[in-house]
Amino acid sequence: MSFDDLNLIYPLQRALKEEGYTTPTPIQQQSIPHLLGGKDMIGIAQTGTGKTASFILPILHNMSGTHKKTRRGSPRVLVLAPTRELAAQIGDSFSTYGKYTQFKHAVIFGGVGQAPQVKAISKGVDSLVATPGRLLDLVDQGHVNLSEVEYFVLDEADRMLDMGFVKDVYKIVEMLPYKRQSLFFSATMSHDISKLAKKMLTSPVTVEV
Ligand code: AMP
Repeated sequence: MSFDDLNLIYPLQRALKEEGYTTPTPIQQQSIPHLLGGKDMIGIAQTGTGKTASFILPILHNMSGTHKKTRRGSPRVLVLAPTRELAAQIGDSFSTYGKYTQFKHAVIFGGVGQAPQVKAISKGVDSLVATPGRLLDLVDQGHVNLSEVEYFVLDEADRMLDMGFVKDVYKIVEMLPYKRQSLFFSATMSHDISKLAKKMLTSPVTVEV
């Protein structure tokens, strides 16, 4: 299989060519067709497998099919990550894969001043990558509204639980519209992790690499 077989929109194909990627990794081969079809998914995969592109590419592809003006502070895509390093890395991937699309993204995380993050969001973002605590702070202050989210990704769910973010994650899931596509990534599976997955996914496919 090559990336050409996935029939992604041209701006994504162009970015992939520029990166020199010709062949999707196993997680990309298994997940992208399901995600293009709108399915919810559990992905059991470690970092380094290409899991970030496996969700960014189909989300940007699907989003491009429906033109919507982004309202300030109301993202269409929400990606939750447990650490600022991972959030920043996912943000970089949005820059790389989305560079020829018209979509904008922002990254927010705690431990730094919120003013530049609020400013970025206020310009209007299609995709928001966030750590849970800072996201809840900005929601409470009225800077972020989650009622327009169409695509929700929970990355590194196992680390999210280990770091004690489970309550925050449940709180965030409660704020999302019922009608959405949800993706759940974890390197490992346990009772608590599948409980969380069940709570946020509808008839998911499971992909394991
Ligand atoms: P990730 O698991 O998402 O952190 O990705 C691991 C690394 O693989 C990143 O540096 C990506 O840029 C790279 N990568 C992702 N997909 C591909 C691909 N299809 N071919 C070659 N490299 C890739």
